[in-house]
Amino acid sequence: MANPVVAIVGRPNVGKSTLFNRIVGERLAIVEDIPGVTRDRLYSQAEWLGKPFHLIDTGGIDFDDHDELLESIRHQAELAVDEADVIVLVVDGTVGITDQDQDVARMLFRSKKPVVLAVNKIDNPQRLNDVYEFYSLGMGEPMPISGAHATGIGDLLDEIIKHFPEYKDDEYDEDVIRVSLIGRPNVGKSSLVNALLGEERVIVSDIAGTTRDAIDTPFTFEGQEYVLIDTAGMRKRGRVYESTEKYSVMRALRAMERSDVVLVVINGEEGIIEQDKKVAGYAHEAGRGVIIVVNKWDAVEKDERTMNKFIADIREEFKYLAYAPILFVSAKTKQRIQTVLPKVTQVAEQHAMRIATPVLNDLIHEATTVTPPPSDKGRRLRINYATQVAVKPPTFVLFVNDTELMHFSYQRYLENKIREAFPLEGTPVRILARNKS
Ligand code: GDP
Ligand code: GDP
Repeated sequence: MANPVVAIVGRPNVGKSTLFNRIVGERLAIVEDIPGVTRDRLYSQAEWLGKPFHLIDTGGIDFDDHDELLESIRHQAELAVDEADVIVLVVDGTVGITDQDQDVARMLFRSKKPVVLAVNKIDNPQRLNDVYEFYSLGMGEPMPISGAHATGIGDLLDEIIKHFPEYKDDEYDEDVIRVSLIGRPNVGKSSLVNALLGEERVIVSDIAGTTRDAIDTPFTFEGQEYVLIDTAGMRKRGRVYESTEKYSVMRALRAMERSDVVLVVINGEEGIIEQDKKVAGYAHEAGRGVIIVVNKWDAVEKDERTMNKFIADIREEFKYLAYAPILFVSAKTKQRIQTVLPKVTQVAEQHAMRIATPVLNDLIHEATTVTPPPSDKGRRLRINYATQVAVKPPTFVLFVNDTELMHFSYQRYLENKIREAFPLEGTPVRILARNKS
């Protein structure tokens, strides 16, 4: 299920990034604990009253350098209108309405998307009088907030989540494998889509699935049904989209959320760059099955060591994706394209793997006998019982005497033991410790 998207829009210096940080602050701190995951400060997950959503600070997106300021604000607003379910227009209560505010408000108004108007920098009750003039923007009731003092944020979030759309639950049958491709521009995503769908034994359904502006392509291969999620997003679109890598990432993230298996595409010709790491980090965090696809392998000058060297680089740069299989392909010459779908199926199976409780407990028991859990100040961790609570990805709960005694390294050790018994290739595994009540 794709979570709703909330975009923050407004001219520079009104306090967009301050507000963004207020809303996602705590969550960012947690996420950044995952070693090796590069974080993007413009796009993050957030949650309010148990409702998860994505938050985008459009102000941080770099559009073409030569854009005039106004033009760039318009682009932000356009992006927000295209991508977001709810738009937060931030204005500066200490300055009053500016021409730019009015211009953006007009655009947003025409879009008919729900807009929540936040009047920022209302740092104390005396300033509340400054709020009224913003009624004239025609965006409904202006909500006074102070990003700096963290006031009014709860009311603002209450208002935001009121506008979340109701999604219908399951778009596709449980046994349909949902696949998406993600990667920076020009790595060959659309070429790969065409190569995959053009395979001899692939039968593309006539009827495309559509969810909002995303176009999905259902197909079958060897009796298995698949759907390529948001194939439209992998194709070239207008100028605004091409000029923003952030935009492609954002769109891919949403596709990824709706997928069982994500193909993280890398350009073999250029090697791994920073942007690839971000993309791969997102794939890992989303808890989806992951396959790393090195494309353009035809264009790589190679000897017998090249592939192993590339594998070593990937393992080094994407340490947290140690479970992901790597394929070397060429969308152009079709080299090894026929290995992609069988691998996708295999990873989807592992992603949905269930381990029976007795088997899991035997495994944990043996692991703790071989290497006893750590102790701290004379107290030793005891694992009483283990059970799998979810699939996609496989998620295990360990009931322990004290969760404080569960160390990251021991958790890693247990994960490795589980993976020795069940390969779980391509899927992350989640292990949660709970205090035995
Ligand atoms: P952005 O350009 O819209 O992302 O704005 P920033 O979040 O970078 O904030 C611009 C300036 O306004 C910074 O100097 C902030 O410290 C300041 N600022 C942000 N929120 C508030 C607020 O609630 N009250 C006051 N007084 N200043 C704020
Ligand atoms: P996207 O932006 O990730 O969707 O990338 P495209 O599929 O549009 O490909 C970008 C460029 O790379 C195009 O010029 C393609 O022809 C080229 N390309 C894609 N796949 C391959 C490949 O396997 N080998 C080579 N040599 N070029 C490729």
